[in-house]
Amino acid sequence: TKWVYTFAKGKAEGRADMKELLGGKGANLAQMSNLGIPVPAGFTITTEVCTHFYDNGRTYPDDLKEQVMAALTEIEGHMDARFGDPKKPLLVSVRSGARASMPGMMDTVLNLGLNDETVEGLAHASGDARFAYDSYRRFIQMYSDVVLGVDHYIFEELLEYLKDEKDYTLDTDLTGEDWKELCVQFKDKVREELDEEFPQDPGAQLWGAVGAVFKSWMNARANTYRILHNIPAEWGTAVNIQAMVFGNMGENCATGVCFSRNPSTGDNHFYGEYLVNAQGEDVVAGIRTPQPLTLLEKEESRSSLPAMEELMPDTYRELVQYRDQLEAHYKDMQDMEFTIQEGKLWMLQTRVGKRTTKAALKIAVDMCHEGLISREEAVMRLDPRSLDQLLHPTLDPDAPRDVMSQGLPASPGAATGRIVFSAEDAESWVKRKEEVILVRTETSPEDIGGMHVAQGILTTRGGMTSHAAVVARGMGTPCVSGAGDLKVDHRAKTLTSFNGKVLVEGDVITIDGSNGQVMAGTVPTIQPELSGDFSKLMEWVDEIRTMGVRTNAETPHDAEMARSFGAEGIGLCRTEHMFFDSARINYVREMILADNEEKRREALADILPFQRQDFEDLFEIMEGLPVTIRLLDPPLHEFLPHSERDMALVAEVAGMSVEHVKERASEMAEQNPMLGHRGCRLGITYPEIYEMQTRAIFEAACNVTKRGGKPVVPEIMIPLVAMKAELDRLKEVVDKTAHEVCQGEGIEIDFIVGTMIELPRAALRAGDIAQTAEFFSFGTNDLTQTTFGLSRDDAGKFLRVYQERGVIEVDPFVSIDQDGVGELVQMGCERGRATRPDIKLGICGEHGGDPASIAFFNRIGLNYVSCSPFRVPIARLAAAQAAI
Ligand code: PEP
Ligand code: MG
Repeated sequence: TKWVYTFAKGKAEGRADMKELLGGKGANLAQMSNLGIPVPAGFTITTEVCTHFYDNGRTYPDDLKEQVMAALTEIEGHMDARFGDPKKPLLVSVRSGARASMPGMMDTVLNLGLNDETVEGLAHASGDARFAYDSYRRFIQMYSDVVLGVDHYIFEELLEYLKDEKDYTLDTDLTGEDWKELCVQFKDKVREELDEEFPQDPGAQLWGAVGAVFKSWMNARANTYRILHNIPAEWGTAVNIQAMVFGNMGENCATGVCFSRNPSTGDNHFYGEYLVNAQGEDVVAGIRTPQPLTLLEKEESRSSLPAMEELMPDTYRELVQYRDQLEAHYKDMQDMEFTIQEGKLWMLQTRVGKRTTKAALKIAVDMCHEGLISREEAVMRLDPRSLDQLLHPTLDPDAPRDVMSQGLPASPGAATGRIVFSAEDAESWVKRKEEVILVRTETSPEDIGGMHVAQGILTTRGGMTSHAAVVARGMGTPCVSGAGDLKVDHRAKTLTSFNGKVLVEGDVITIDGSNGQVMAGTVPTIQPELSGDFSKLMEWVDEIRTMGVRTNAETPHDAEMARSFGAEGIGLCRTEHMFFDSARINYVREMILADNEEKRREALADILPFQRQDFEDLFEIMEGLPVTIRLLDPPLHEFLPHSERDMALVAEVAGMSVEHVKERASEMAEQNPMLGHRGCRLGITYPEIYEMQTRAIFEAACNVTKRGGKPVVPEIMIPLVAMKAELDRLKEVVDKTAHEVCQGEGIEIDFIVGTMIELPRAALRAGDIAQTAEFFSFGTNDLTQTTFGLSRDDAGKFLRVYQERGVIEVDPFVSIDQDGVGELVQMGCERGRATRPDIKLGICGEHGGDPASIAFFNRIGLNYVSCSPFRVPIARLAAAQAAI
C-alpha cells in the first residue's frame, strides 16, 4: 500500500480532490504544488495510517518507515539540506490535517530536526546564532509540550525568570548567548520532569511527533470539536511533514495569514495580516499586533504600521498573483498562510475560508456575477440555518452607548450578556439559563465549549485572525477581539477599562461585533435591513425551488414579518392563540364554564367580534394569498384560571360562585390532556364553538371583499381528526355556516375545508379522509408524539440522554424521523392523492423550518411547508437546495 504522498513546487503525487486520503491540508498542498506555486517540499502520511494505527494497538504498517525515509530523502534533494546534518540541517514541521478543517484542535511540532549539533549548523548556515538558538528553544518547548507532555508554562516561567534577571522587557532583548543558555535550562527541566534526556536523534524526534499527531486525533478537545461539527471519528487525520521555512531570520522575513476576499464583509478585496521577522504561530497567537497587508486595510483600520503592499511591494505582488490563481482554481474564497524567508515567498497552506453569513452571501452572489460559479452553486454555498444571523436584531444606531473600549470587529452581530472569565464558567452560567459574554485575554482551543454557549466573545489580545475571531465567525457568534485598553484579571474575575472602571463577574456588557465597540450595560436593538445580496440570492432561490413556503402566524405583527421574509401565505393560524388575549380571555373562560349550550352561545357571541377582527387583519395583510385557519384545538382547561385570584375574577364575570368555578375546573381536568378532549373532539361535542369561528371567518372575508380587498380564499382546517366520520360532521357545520353568512351578505366566498393529519390513524386512513378533505396539512408535532408515544412536553428531559448515549442521532421533534413518522407522512400523501389527485398537501409542524426535514418533504412531493416567520428564508433556501 502507498502510505506516503510527496509534493514540491511543480509536482505532487496528490490532488485537491484527495481530501479523504490526504486530509484537507495535504490535498491542498499537493494542489498548490501542481499549480506551480512555491510550496516548501514535503509529504503527507495518509489518513489510512491513522485508521491502521487505531485498529492495531497504536502501531504503524510495516512498510511505513521505508516510505517515510524515501520521501524524506526527496525533500532533502529539493531543499539542498540533510535531515540531521550538523553542517546544513534540514528542519521540518509536523502537522495534523483532517478531512474537515479543525483549527487548532490537534497538535503541531515545528523546527523538528534540531539538536545540540544541528543548532550549530543552523547558526552557521543562517549566520545568525540568535535565530538558531531561539528556534531550538521553541522546538524544545513545543516538542516537550506536545510529544513528551511537559506543560509549556514551565518553560515560559524560565524565560520570564531570565528576562527579570537580565532586566529585559521584550523577547527580542535576548541575545544569542541568552537563548543558548535558556536551551540548556529547558533541557535540564525536561530531564528533571521526565527523568530522561531530551531526544537528540532527529529520527526519534520525527516518529515521536508523528505519533503525537495521530494520538491528538482522539484528544478531548478534538473529540468535542468533532461532536459539535458532526465529524465522524473514523475519518482519522493525515500527518504533513514539510521542510521548514523561516519568517524570523531578519527584517527581510515575515509571516502572515490572508484571505482572497474579506471574510467579514465579503468585499472582493485582498485582506490579511502579517508580522515582520516572526514565525507563523506568532500571528495567530496574538502576541504581537499584526500589520495590515494592503494599503486599503491600513486606511480602514487607521493603522500606523506599514502595510506589506508598501513595505515589500514585489513580494506583495507575487502574493496577489497566487491569491488570484488559487481563487480561480478553487472558485471559492481562500484562507492562505505564507512565509517570506530572506525575501523569498513560500505558500504554506490554502483552504476554503470560514466567513460570516453576510460575507458568504456577498461572495456567492459576486462570484456568480463574475461568472465563476452558477446560480445553483451560489445557492448551495449557504447553510440555510446561518441565515438566522442576518435576520436577528442589531444595535440601534441612535441609542446612547456607554462605550468602554474599541476593539476589532472580529465577528459581526450584537450581543448582550453577563461577563464570565472562563469557558467553564460560561458553561455553568448558561446551564443556569443566564446569557453570558465570555471575556478572555485570548482564547485557545480548550475554550471551545464555553465559546459555543456564549452570546458573545470579547478578547483583549489578538487580531482578526486570532483563534477567538476565526472560531467566532465560524459559529456565527458576535466577537470583539484585541480590545487592548481593557485589562482582564482572570483570577480576580474583573475587567478594568482604561479609565479605571471595574466590572466584575456577572456585570452586563454589550459588544458590537460589527464595529468592535464594547459597552457597559444593555443597548436597545433594531431589526436589520436585508442587503441587496440577500434579495438577489433569494430571487435565485425562488426561481429554483418547486415547493411553496408559508408561515405559521396568527398575529398581524408575525404575519407582516413573515410576508417581508417571503412567506407565500399562512399555512397554520392557531386560533387558540387569539383566545389568550387579555381583552377576551374572560369571555373564553365564561364560554368554557357554561353549564349548557345556551350560555355557551351567549359567551361565544361576545368572542365573535374579536375573532372577526383578527381574521380581517390577517386577510388584509396576506392580500389574497391563501390563509389556513385551524379551528380550536387545545383541551379547554388550558384556558382556565389557576390562581385563586383569577378564579374569583372569572366567577364574577360568569356570574357563578368560586366553588362552582373550581368544581367545573376539576371536572375538566384530564389525566392525559394531549390525548383527551381536544381538537375536532371539541367540535363534535360543542359544534357551536366551530360555528362561531366559521362565522367570524366568513364575516371577515365578506368585510374585506366589500372594502375592495383582494379576494381571500380561506382554507378551514379541522385538527386532530382520526376518522372520516369526524371530518364529515364538522365539514357540514362549516359548509352550513359559510352558506348562511354568504347568503346574508350576498357575497360569494371561495373556500376549502381540509384536515390536519397528525394521528397515525389519519395517515393510515388518508384514502377515506381525502374523500371529504380538500387539503391535508401534516401536523408532524403531534404525529411524532403519537407515533413514538412520546410526550412533546416531557420528552426533552430524557431525549438528551438518548442522544448522548447514541440511541438516537437527532431529536425527532426537531428533525423528522424519516423512517417512521416520515413513512406515515409519505403514506398519507400517496393514499390522499390516490383518492383526490389534486389534493393540496402541506406540513405545518416544527419540522417545516428544518432543512433536513425540508429535503425529505421535497422528495415526497409536498406542495408546501409552513414554519415560523424567522425560519421562512431558511425554508426557502433549504427548499431550493433540495430541488437542485
Ligand atoms: C402539529 O401537531 O404538528 C401542529 C402543527 O399543531 P400543534 O403544534 O398546534 O399541535
Ligand atoms: Mg397538533
